[in-house]
Amino acid sequence: MMSLIRCQGQTIGFVPTMGSLHAGHMSLVEAAAAECDVVVVSIFVNPTQFADGDDLEKYPRDIEQDKLLLERASVDYLFYPEVSEMYDGADATAFRLPEDLISWGCAPFRPSHFEGVAQVCAKLFNIITPNKVYFGQKDYQQTLVVDRLTQDLNFDIDLRVMPIVRERGGLAMSSRNKYLSSEDRNVAEVLYQALSVTKKTGSLEEGEKIIAQEPKVQLEYFEIHDGVALLAAKIGDVRLIDNVVVE
Ligand code: AMP
Repeated sequence: MMSLIRCQGQTIGFVPTMGSLHAGHMSLVEAAAAECDVVVVSIFVNPTQFADGDDLEKYPRDIEQDKLLLERASVDYLFYPEVSEMYDGADATAFRLPEDLISWGCAPFRPSHFEGVAQVCAKLFNIITPNKVYFGQKDYQQTLVVDRLTQDLNFDIDLRVMPIVRERGGLAMSSRNKYLSSEDRNVAEVLYQALSVTKKTGSLEEGEKIIAQEPKVQLEYFEIHDGVALLAAKIGDVRLIDNVVVE
């Protein structure tokens, strides 16, 4: 079906997601609609990118609400496969990513996460055959993985990276924000405040000082990679990531 669309000379814009959609996801959909003839969104909570002990079971799912949002945005196709359609239960071909992509950031804290991302993206790209794929800057390290994947495996796909959509207080929108109490949402605003201070001063330490003022925030890492300050932190059980371009 999708190859047919491409044969007919129409361009396919593809937005892969794990659902529980919010305005951040919808900004990718809007960009795809503005640049492509046909927009495809996938919703798939990919088990191979979750390690044991991660929040795979608890990951928020809200397919009826998601469908409404996608219909309202006039998305052409929703790809919503079962896990068994994507993986048959047997050991599947897996990925090894280059060290320079996984020696920093989230990777040491989530071993095999980006390998799972690469695996599912390769499968989705082959199924959907998009001309352009839309990813959020929010998952900065993921965009680097997808960029390398498309180059190394010769996918003829244009990667488009879209800006982070934030709540009014600066908190980056995330499906996992649903699990924050209203008090913890306020606490979480410290993450963007810290990144903003680091952007302004050029100092990670100044940013870390801001976070240290919030005892409820357990910082996993706060580092600068290629001119992007990025961090991950837990508030209770909820793991959040964010970044800002500093150079
Ligand atoms: P997810 O459903 O969390 O896997 O996200 C699907 C896509 O939406 C990824 O490319 C994310 O980077 C992107 N995304 C998630 N949150 C935001 C946000 N706040 N602003 C922009 N893009 C986002």
